[in-house]
Amino acid sequence: MQNNIIYTTMSRTPIIAANWKMNIGPAEARAFLAAFKEEKLCECKGVEKVVVPPFVTIPAVVETLNGCSCLGVGAQDVSDHDNGAFTGEVSTAMLTELGCRYVVLGHSERRQYHGETNAYINKKIHKALSAGLIPIYCIGETLEQREGGQLEQVLRTQVTDGLAGLTPEQVAGLVIAYEPVWAIGTGKTASAADAQSAHAFIRSVVAEIFGEDAASKVRIQYGGSVKPANAAELMSQPDIDGALVGGAALKADSFAAIIRAAAV
Ligand code: PEP
Repeated sequence: MQNNIIYTTMSRTPIIAANWKMNIGPAEARAFLAAFKEEKLCECKGVEKVVVPPFVTIPAVVETLNGCSCLGVGAQDVSDHDNGAFTGEVSTAMLTELGCRYVVLGHSERRQYHGETNAYINKKIHKALSAGLIPIYCIGETLEQREGGQLEQVLRTQVTDGLAGLTPEQVAGLVIAYEPVWAIGTGKTASAADAQSAHAFIRSVVAEIFGEDAASKVRIQYGGSVKPANAAELMSQPDIDGALVGGAALKADSFAAIIRAAAV
């Protein structure tokens, strides 16, 4: 993969987000946050910390945080509609009313199990931004695509179609999560060099479409079996601006260790 310009990380605060997926109900979340508090990470400056619980757990998290801004709260999905007959869906207004600031969109599990396409995710990104939510837009290739030499094409299409119609300012303010599908929940992590190379490529595509200012500001997280043991090496790469963490963020101590790795 061609490595293009390496943009400075000076102005990008790393963001570590815990994607709890369909784990951790309200009671367990309260216990998690009590343990997380013991880690004393509120003083850990220079890294944005986010938890992304299941919808039903969000109120318990917000209540337990009790106004503490140390941890941001996100949702795992949102509807592309405002309201109405959409059984099972949740709107942007509902999320902002609860106190959410972020929303994960286009996670590979939603693409795989719910048939979400780049065009559909694009509508949700627009909807989220117009409600003041920060999208965490997930992209990444399958093993088949990587081995078939399609990595760059897949990433280019996901960036182009998923972010279509956004202004450079909107792109600068959102978060992209590069998550190779073969690394999610498998214990296999992309090497730091491979991850850096993919991140630099994604940033170069953002630069082509939205300009260098947006490219130098947009934060690109890595996701895929990040754990305390590999976080520091991944986070030290110039184009990696944090992590979206699944399994290793289900326990407060390992989530805290990953945050510390991003803060150094
Ligand atoms: C994820 O689901 O976004 C993820 C990265 O999961 P894990 O860390 O478990 O691979």
